[in-house]
Amino acid sequence: MSIGDDLLNQIKIKIDSKLFSFQVKEEIYNPVFQKILKEAKRNNSEIYCQCNNVKMQIKNLKDKFYLSSYPNRKKQHSEFCSFSEKVDNFYTRENNQFILENLNLFLASNSNSKIRTGLNRENRKYTQFSGLILNLLDSAYSQAFNIKNKGKDRLSKDLKNPEFELFLKAFVKNFINLKLKSGYDFYKNFKEKGLSFKTGKVYKIGDNFIKTKTFFKGEFITENIKIKEEILKNSLKNVQIFDKFISPPYFFFLVKKKRTVQKLFLYPVVDSKYFLPVESEFEREKIKKFSEKYCVYKPVLINSINSVLTKKYSLIYNKSNSVIPRPDLFVFTGEEIVIVEIFGMDNDKYLERAKEKEEFYKNLEKPFRYGKLVKR
Ligand SMILES: [Zn+2]
Repeated sequence: MSIGDDLLNQIKIKIDSKLFSFQVKEEIYNPVFQKILKEAKRNNSEIYCQCNNVKMQIKNLKDKFYLSSYPNRKKQHSEFCSFSEKVDNFYTRENNQFILENLNLFLASNSNSKIRTGLNRENRKYTQFSGLILNLLDSAYSQAFNIKNKGKDRLSKDLKNPEFELFLKAFVKNFINLKLKSGYDFYKNFKEKGLSFKTGKVYKIGDNFIKTKTFFKGEFITENIKIKEEILKNSLKNVQIFDKFISPPYFFFLVKKKRTVQKLFLYPVVDSKYFLPVESEFEREKIKKFSEKYCVYKPVLINSINSVLTKKYSLIYNKSNSVIPRPDLFVFTGEEIVIVEIFGMDNDKYLERAKEKEEFYKNLEKPFRYGKLVKR
């Protein structure tokens, strides 16, 4: 079972009679969906945001296609819809760089809105802070994977999982290279406000502290960091699925002002020297097992899939004209690329969506193969 899909897909767009769903607005720039938008624009398709059946339009600028609300309809979106005025477009990825609307919005975002592991469906909007960090995580993970396996065919037996440290370096680099929409340097602004950040692994949670390992001058150091109960509680909502709590270790990222932690982001990972994100305990157990034998990739968002598969295999993966699904796991065996869906829960909605995904996988050509793991 992945947290993804039904729970995650907060954006649902209907183009003519076809329904597409996304986790974040940014996935609109996925090459596959760009093609769909291009065609839809040419065909004058009817487009609706499914939050409240709000009519939308496609705009194109340079080579990119955007979905946008008609000015008089902007207010019709539900409060939690990514197209609503309240949760506006706060960053886009251009030239592999993240662009943030502004620093104040980033800091002001309410940390008690959970991002992806939404227990309450109505409360699963992305905040600027957590949405951004999740995107940086996804991006840094794929970068670390690609650095580790540079120049290697994805059917090579020599593929390796990226170390946590390699991932962290990519993450930090991306964070300090953030740009603000005004062109102003985000990190410079961040420091001028007296802010600092810390990132690494959390492996224990207390009532008002986290026990962390952070990477400092070439090695990991252990540190207890004090965190207000309220902030901690809110961050912990991100590591729950339904009522199930996913235990540490977590990847963490926090923002501090002087000695006070203002923001905390947590994401469950496998306990290993590699960076291996997970979305449930069952998944953790399975991914750990696979990773001991093979190189694996667990897509956190859909954005990174193409770059990890490299052009050669993403062309095969994207061959179908429908929106490509985000599998729970890719396993690179050296002979095939096995797509694994991990079913830890028999939620009807989830299984329905999984059926659609399975249809997609069944039509995939070699070297892809579909495999299914069911909790018994
Ligand atoms: Zn909407």
